[in-house]
Amino acid sequence: NADSAMYKAKELGRNNFQYFAGWMDAQVSNRLEMLVSLRRALDRDEFKLYYQPKISLANGRIIGAEALIRWITPDQGMVPPDRFIPFAEEAGLIVPIGEWVLRTACAQNKAWQDAGLAPIPVAVNLSPRQLDQNLPEFVRQVLAESCLAAAWLELEITENVVMKDAEKTVATLNALKRLGLQVSVDDFGTGYSSLSYLRRFPVDALKIDKSFVRDIARDTDSAAIVKAVISLGHILNLRVIAEGVEDQEQYNFLLENGCDEVQGYLLGKPMPAEDFTRRLELEKKAAG
Ligand code: C2E
Ligand code: MG
Ligand code: MG
Ligand code: MG
Repeated sequence: NADSAMYKAKELGRNNFQYFAGWMDAQVSNRLEMLVSLRRALDRDEFKLYYQPKISLANGRIIGAEALIRWITPDQGMVPPDRFIPFAEEAGLIVPIGEWVLRTACAQNKAWQDAGLAPIPVAVNLSPRQLDQNLPEFVRQVLAESCLAAAWLELEITENVVMKDAEKTVATLNALKRLGLQVSVDDFGTGYSSLSYLRRFPVDALKIDKSFVRDIARDTDSAAIVKAVISLGHILNLRVIAEGVEDQEQYNFLLENGCDEVQGYLLGKPMPAEDFTRRLELEKKAAG
C-alpha cells in the first residue's frame, strides 16, 4: 500500500525515484477509484441523510435537525463526509450531490410535518461551490416541489465561504433570505471572518465550533472564547448554537452563559430518519 511504499522509498534513500513514482501512482489510482465510485454513487442511491437534533436550552426540546450526509459503499461500508466531500468539491460533483441533499432533507421535513409532528427547521450544509447565483432559484424550486415553507429550511455555510467573494456572497445570501429561509454560520471561530463582515451578512445564527466546546472545562481560553461568541451573537441579534456538546459539564456552562441551542452526542448522535421520527414522536407524547 501507499504507506509501506513510501516507507520503502525512504529506506532506500532519496535517489531511488522509482519508489516515489510508485507511491504517486498509488495515490492517483486511489483518487481515480474514489472519483469513479463517487460518480456512480448518486445513480446507485448510496447516499443517505442522517439527522442530528438541535436542542433548545430554554426548555430542552428539539427545535431543529441538521442533515448530515453519509455514503454507504458496498465494499467499504460507511464513509464519513470529511473523507469524500473534499473530493466531490474538487470534481464538481458537490453540485449534484448537494442538490440531492437539499431535495431529500426538504422532502423528509415535509413528511414529518404531514405526519403531524411539531414542525422544526431542517438545516442543510452548503459547500462554497454551491453558493453561486443559481442557488436561490434552485432552492425556490425545491421548496415549491416539496411543498415545504421556506421558514422550515436553514442553510449552514462556513465562515470562509462568506469571506471568499464578499460582494457576490452578500447578493446571493440576500436573495436566499428573501425566500424566507434561515442562514447560519457553521464552525464559527475557526475561519477568519471579520466583525464588519458579520454585520453585513444577512445571517440568523452562529454555530460555535466544536473545538472550543470540547475544551470549555479544561481550557480558560476556550471558555472565554465561547462566552465572547455568545455575547457577540446576541449583540448582533443572532441565535447562538454550540456544536459538539458531549457532557453535562459543557451543557451546564452553555446554559449558564446564555447560549440558545445545543447540538452534540449528549443530546443525540446523527441518526437515520426513521430514528429521528421516533424521537419526534416521543417528544410529542411528552408534550401531551
Ligand atoms: P458540520 O456541519 O460542522 O457538522 C458537525 C459534525 O460534528 C458532524 O460530523 C457531526 O456528526 C459531528 N458531531 C456532532 N455532535 C458531535 C459531538 O458531540 N462530538 C463530536 N466529536 N462530533 C460531533 P459529520 O457528520 O462527520 O460531518 C462532518 C462535516 O461534513 C460537517 O461538519 C459538514 O461540514 C460536512 N457535511 C456533512 N454533510 C454535508 C452535506 O450534506 N453537504 C456538505 N457540503 N457538507 C456536509
Ligand atoms: Mg453543519
Ligand atoms: Mg460545524
Ligand atoms: Mg464542518
